[in-house]
Amino acid sequence: MPDTAAATLLIDGRRHSAPATFDVVDPASLDVLGQAADADVTHALAALDAAAAAARGWADTDPETRSGHLRAAAAEIRARQGELALLLSRENGKPLAEANGELTGGARMLEWAAEEGRRAYGRVTPASAAGPGLVLRSPVGPVLAITPWNFPASMLLRKVGLALAAGCPVIAKPAEQTPLIATALLDIVQATGLPAGVLQSLTTTRPAELVGALLADRRLRKVSFTGSTEVGLGLLRQTGDTLRRTSLEMGGHSPAIVFADADLEAAATGVVTAKFFNAGQSCTAVNRLYVHESVRDDLLALIEKKTAALRLGRGDAEGTTIGPLIDKAGLAKVENQVADAVAKGARVLIGGSRWESGDPALRGHYFRPTVLTGVTADMLISHEETFGPVLAVTTFTGDDEAIALANATDYGLAAYLFGSDLRRVWRALDRLDFGVIGVNDPAPVRPELPFGGQKNSGQEREGGAEGIEAYTETKAVALRF
Ligand code: ADP
Repeated sequence: MPDTAAATLLIDGRRHSAPATFDVVDPASLDVLGQAADADVTHALAALDAAAAAARGWADTDPETRSGHLRAAAAEIRARQGELALLLSRENGKPLAEANGELTGGARMLEWAAEEGRRAYGRVTPASAAGPGLVLRSPVGPVLAITPWNFPASMLLRKVGLALAAGCPVIAKPAEQTPLIATALLDIVQATGLPAGVLQSLTTTRPAELVGALLADRRLRKVSFTGSTEVGLGLLRQTGDTLRRTSLEMGGHSPAIVFADADLEAAATGVVTAKFFNAGQSCTAVNRLYVHESVRDDLLALIEKKTAALRLGRGDAEGTTIGPLIDKAGLAKVENQVADAVAKGARVLIGGSRWESGDPALRGHYFRPTVLTGVTADMLISHEETFGPVLAVTTFTGDDEAIALANATDYGLAAYLFGSDLRRVWRALDRLDFGVIGVNDPAPVRPELPFGGQKNSGQEREGGAEGIEAYTETKAVALRF
């Protein structure tokens, strides 16, 4: 296990403690797992001073050198994956297998950024009478990367990797629930020999105050945020009279559509995976299932069986496939949605209540994996993100009806389609208002694909060629000979 029981700050190439620390809680047992330094505004401004001072030098660094740092960090994460996965599982509560998968995904993202950063090409336009034109790309400058607790490794590595590859210094602001794994990973990136000031880390219990101070400073050129829609929209409103690049990855309310011609076994596995992964605490989690009425009973029988096979417990215990919710508020939200749906006529196919084992090692906030049928549009769960292990099922009769139901949300992050008729799938792909779509694929997030949402789910993309673009400015040059 890395020595991260006490996470410190990283500013200007050096580790700093802070006058105050805060407890990090193991969500499985509610025991204290460690402490993290509680940064204040002075630390935030020192971090920005360091990042601003390092910006020109890092932008001028050979992309191949930047790429080398990221490849070295990815190799180290892969080499230490076992201990890092244990830390991630303990701090976030997710099953070890998922923690391992997240770290592999994070390493792959660093590797992608390492490769793609070397291809941040511009363009040459055909010469007019005056001369040719050039389109140049340059790093945006100091970036603030605000990351959430639900994927505290992959979200962080994605932002840090893409920003560093593009030539931008980074101030990372990990979530207060998960500072230990974030600190361990940022230490690994720093230890590849990054110049001082290129990478900063601020753990804090006062995100609004620190982020507010950074946003008020024009030297900060970009914010990349992953978290709730409420906080993300608040960041946009705080922009004031300083325009800066803002990438937002916010909430979701993902539909899954199962057409009559789907392979039902694969669809049931896909829906259960995309729903209960990370105990449903994922912005790409399936919230709503729309199933064609002709296959409803067969699909639900399969889903019920697969849901019943899930095992609640500590993420780091053998055999656990679903861990605790992150906190009490998360549990209360889930209970409220289930009570509201049942009061309005939904039926509980399986689950439906919290889980209390009586074991002191499992004092956390657990909810049984739950499937609700007969869900209607007037229920809270049909429009409010659940962020917990509850699947809401509705039947449909026509394709257009399914697509209209799927699109009837202010969110637009991920959607899932299960079916074998390519013509029908293609038509749905054209009509669905979502940024990421899995076709017979419950895990549609890949480094080589741009990740991000439409509508209130976000703006700009992470991953793919678009991921590097989001950290660069475009300059048009007109040449006259
Ligand atoms: P969640 O509800 O999933 O915890 P949040 O949006 O509250 O999502 O948190 C995501 C990230 O945003 C975390 O790093 C958190 O510290 C940060 N954050 C929370 N509130 C604010 C705020 N007012 N300003 C800036 N960052 C914030």
